[in-house]
Amino acid sequence: MTTTAQNLNLLSAGDPGYDEARTIWNAMVDRRPELIVRASSTQDVVAAVRLSREHNLELGVRCGGHNAAGFAVPDGGLMLDLTPMSAVRVDPATRTARVQGGALLGALDRASQSFGLATTAGNVSHTGVGGLTLGGGMGWLARQYGLACDNVSAYRIVTADGSVLRATATEHPDLFWGLRGGGGNFGVVTEFEFRLHPVGTRALVASYTVSPADAASAMRTWRDLAMTAPRQATLDASSPGDGSVHLGFVWVGPGSPSALLAEMPSARVTEMSYLHLQTRDDTTSGHAYRRYSKGHYLRALPDAAIESFLAPGPASRSLQAYGGAIADVAAEATAFAHRDTQFEYVTGMRWSDPAEDEPRMSAARTAAAALTPYATGVYVNMLSDEGEAGVRRAYPEAQLARLTAVKDAYDPDNVFHLNHNIRPSER
Ligand code: FAD
Repeated sequence: MTTTAQNLNLLSAGDPGYDEARTIWNAMVDRRPELIVRASSTQDVVAAVRLSREHNLELGVRCGGHNAAGFAVPDGGLMLDLTPMSAVRVDPATRTARVQGGALLGALDRASQSFGLATTAGNVSHTGVGGLTLGGGMGWLARQYGLACDNVSAYRIVTADGSVLRATATEHPDLFWGLRGGGGNFGVVTEFEFRLHPVGTRALVASYTVSPADAASAMRTWRDLAMTAPRQATLDASSPGDGSVHLGFVWVGPGSPSALLAEMPSARVTEMSYLHLQTRDDTTSGHAYRRYSKGHYLRALPDAAIESFLAPGPASRSLQAYGGAIADVAAEATAFAHRDTQFEYVTGMRWSDPAEDEPRMSAARTAAAALTPYATGVYVNMLSDEGEAGVRRAYPEAQLARLTAVKDAYDPDNVFHLNHNIRPSER
């Protein structure tokens, strides 16, 4: 190895820890990088980016390892493992959190909640702050405070030529725009600076189950409530695919959900800590299964879409309401464009036997296809194997043109291409 590699924590096949480091959330991903760099500092990240270029090794960047396509793990390439960079420092006086690029959501939530603070983060605590935030970042606080990316005031980033930049509204504002939704296309973020909010430490979850016979009419009422609910409430729905549906909402923040509950007389309400809310799906969404999912953004949920959502099939499916503060931001203000989304739809399958891959994936595709006529786009972080067509669904044309300009400026050689890729212009 060249001098660039000196002092780096490197793993290759056969080393203790190699298999553990290359194992990610989706058990369908079983790839073998030539080299794994376990980065502990921004300087390590700079060295790893240089190393990958010097040795012409395809570069994958790993934070939480939850990207379903497994972009983090390049076969025969260099996997830049950011997980040793997992520190979170909260300053309660300025209500900010400095979060290293390899941290998981649980670390951010725990550190913030010790001061009664939080910012928008996803619903499963073993997801990475890195991938989630760079694609947008949806969570129970988003209708009050915006997406995770709307709460980032500064990024420290290592770009393709090894430069270390700070991107804010006034420093490299084009990069700052692209990092808010554009994914890992522009470099390796080694630190995010988040704004935190005084959300308290409690949450309420309301839920009720409706039998197949009554599911459609109950969902129509639930949909209408979602359009007018206070921002503290995020309505959600899920179905195992047998025609029944679980409906309800999560409430975080001030006030009482009594008006909403009056419209949901059979709802069971559970009070829990915010940290419990943020970890309650950790086990059902756990590691070691084969996984496949599909998503859509919907600007409306017409009655016919509800019928399609409820149509029987083996794939589970869910809806989560958007709106509120997510929609306060202008569509052109960030790379994340789908500000007028009302609902996010996700369908997915999990299994263990590789022999079942095809039928399971096909079931998820069939469920998603039934909603396609109502779809207005897709969340980039829900894409898996859709390739360029998926990228075009995630970013409208104007966004894509601007993202390409940012790519040209910061990564003209497309070093960071193992992602939902924004390709540089042809030169
Ligand atoms: P990784 O696979 O480690 O990273 C994904 C990609 O992001 C990398 O390939 C790289 O391109 C880029 N990347 C990651 N970190 C960095 C960094 N520091 N610098 C530069 N590039 C980086 N999304 C939501 O919005 N809300 C949710 O509630 C939610 N829940 C989820 C629950 C589960 C169980 C799963 C599997 C996914 C969930 N998602 C959710 C989707 C999630 O946002 C994406 O899967 C995201 O890619 C995960 O990021 P990661 O860091 O864990 O993944």
